[in-house]
Amino acid sequence: MTSTKAPLSPKEIFADYLCRNKKRRTAERYAILDRAMRAVGHFSVEALCDTLRDEDYHVSTTTVYSTLELLVDCGLVIRHRFNDRRSLYEKAPVSQGAQCHHHLICTVCGKIKEMRDPELTQLIEAKRFPAFTPAYFALNIYGTCSACTRRKRRKKLSQK
Ligand SMILES: [Zn+2]
Ligand SMILES: [Zn+2]
Repeated sequence: MTSTKAPLSPKEIFADYLCRNKKRRTAERYAILDRAMRAVGHFSVEALCDTLRDEDYHVSTTTVYSTLELLVDCGLVIRHRFNDRRSLYEKAPVSQGAQCHHHLICTVCGKIKEMRDPELTQLIEAKRFPAFTPAYFALNIYGTCSACTRRKRRKKLSQK
């Protein structure tokens, strides 16, 4: 099966989603989509609000939040809840693509490091799950970052 049709752009996917769900296609929603697609790495609702504000685009936090939820719902953005912190968003990885990454999360300071491991990605992509079709994944590995390990070590030394 060969199709010459170009893959849908995020805007087309979003427009189609809004249409199907009988939601209004507003300029604000598209502006938020645009900024979310341009964001590098993880971002919070507040960070996206700041970006919009920097560009003199004033939208309420509520609108940004609800639009991000729509983007999550239509698969363009994924939401992470690391530790007990508030939600962080990021662009959904292109399926089977090299953009897929995993997270190394420090449980002491909360720092999140992105890690790419094509071998691990392939391993998970090759897996089949009964009665389940995976869409995307991100592995979270919890532990202690090097800075916190050093801090811990120093603390221990000074206590001796
Ligand atoms: Zn740390
Ligand atoms: Zn990430």
